Amino acid sequence: MKILIVANWKMNPASLKEAKNLFDSVKKGVRNIKNVEVVLCPPFVYLPALSERGLASVIKLGAQDCFWEESGAFTGEVSPRQLKNLGVKYVILGHSERRKYLKEETDEIVSRKLGACLKVGLKPILCVEKLSQLKGIKKDIIVAFEPISAIGTGKAFDVEKAKSARKAIKNNFVLYGGSLNSENAKDYIEKAGFKGLLIGGASLKGEEFIKITKSVDLISKI
Ligand code: PEP
Repeated sequence: MKILIVANWKMNPASLKEAKNLFDSVKKGVRNIKNVEVVLCPPFVYLPALSERGLASVIKLGAQDCFWEESGAFTGEVSPRQLKNLGVKYVILGHSERRKYLKEETDEIVSRKLGACLKVGLKPILCVEKLSQLKGIKKDIIVAFEPISAIGTGKAFDVEKAKSARKAIKNNFVLYGGSLNSENAKDYIEKAGFKGLLIGGASLKGEEFIKITKSVDLISKI
């Protein structure tokens, strides 16, 4: 599997026009990338339009959450099947912002969502800040280690400490997330041994995101 770079746009941007512009600039910027799979995770409302825009070979679409049932009376929710039918391949689950702001985002609920994604062939990316959140999680699930102190703070986690956390996580595919930018990103692959990155703030700046992707593509060629 290639190095995975996942862009979490969170609740941004404000308009479809801006979402299309960001998407188009990333698509253009990563067209020669060989060793990285780029996963763009916009808000649900932009997924259909971006999916119709046509994905480059290295770009896949992801969602930022989903529900655990396939269909039915669940007002406001989006099912894994609906995402799958839109061409979505990945789903971020258990992000710390959801765990913080929505009381119902417990480990048990996250695990139900995970099962529902697997059932329809979507690839879940499970966000964890501590090892206990991995209880009962199979080794082949993609995990994103996202220390709370590093999320959206501009204070990326110490690379050596991140490496220790990565080693303690026994899953096969572990990403790092937290205050990444084009200066620090490659260290988490090269020095700390992560197999990918989850990027929030910097993924909203087209040029910066492309720079990060290129820096990682370069080291993985060596
Ligand atoms: C995130 O929210 O998953 C994240 C990594 O955010 P940021 O890059 O802004 O710290």
